[in-house]
Amino acid sequence: MKKLRFRYMGEEFEGTFDNGVIVDSKGSVYDPRDIDWLPPSKPRNIVGLALNYGKHAEELGLKASEKPVLFLKPVSSLTGHMSNIIRPSGTKYVHYEGELAVIIGKRCRNVSIREAMEYVLGYTVANDVTARDFITNMFRPPVQAKGYDTFCPVGPWIVTKDEIPDVHSLEIITKVNGEVKQKDSTSSMIHRVEEIVSHISSFMTLSEGDIILTGTPEGISPVKHGDVIEVTVEGIGTLRNNIVDEG
Ligand code: MG
Repeated sequence: MKKLRFRYMGEEFEGTFDNGVIVDSKGSVYDPRDIDWLPPSKPRNIVGLALNYGKHAEELGLKASEKPVLFLKPVSSLTGHMSNIIRPSGTKYVHYEGELAVIIGKRCRNVSIREAMEYVLGYTVANDVTARDFITNMFRPPVQAKGYDTFCPVGPWIVTKDEIPDVHSLEIITKVNGEVKQKDSTSSMIHRVEEIVSHISSFMTLSEGDIILTGTPEGISPVKHGDVIEVTVEGIGTLRNNIVDEG
């Protein structure tokens, strides 16, 4: 099932996407061209993984680590499919990062790797937009780099996990203006979904709707005003956003 949230005539709805149309929880049908796409979940927390693909770590001159390296992305950075990503004035290195995102289905704490998938609702597509201008030293909690408004587009929908037989064999592609910039498979992920959920839950409570960004493959590059970024994860969908300069 494809679950989504959207805005229509100023009101917010939850619904599903099926056969090219959107159906809300009361059964009303909408044309996707008539709605505004909202992030498909309402998280309390958004947790990101750094360096979860070996070749991306290499392109940054870094080594992948044994334990997942984590950061938090503020909920205020969320935005939906088809919305604008605002490039802050004065930045030179705003990068897309196409990623598979995991959506938590129920509250969990201290779950084992074996139990972890029971707490996963499904998956969506994310762009972990990053202003590398602000990653400047070794002690670098990337709050500003990762945290601007609109720096966390996700969507268009959540595909429930029953429809994804193997989350670790999905092709992931990022295009800028139609040109392929990132192309890899989730089979290249160093830390796998069950391990990531188990690890995060070992120190913080994960809640229904929480989003985990599982890291990006190699091929990042700066974007500019007018660029169109499309991230596609096989079996899930395509997340599309435009870059617009601030002001
Ligand atoms: Mg990332």
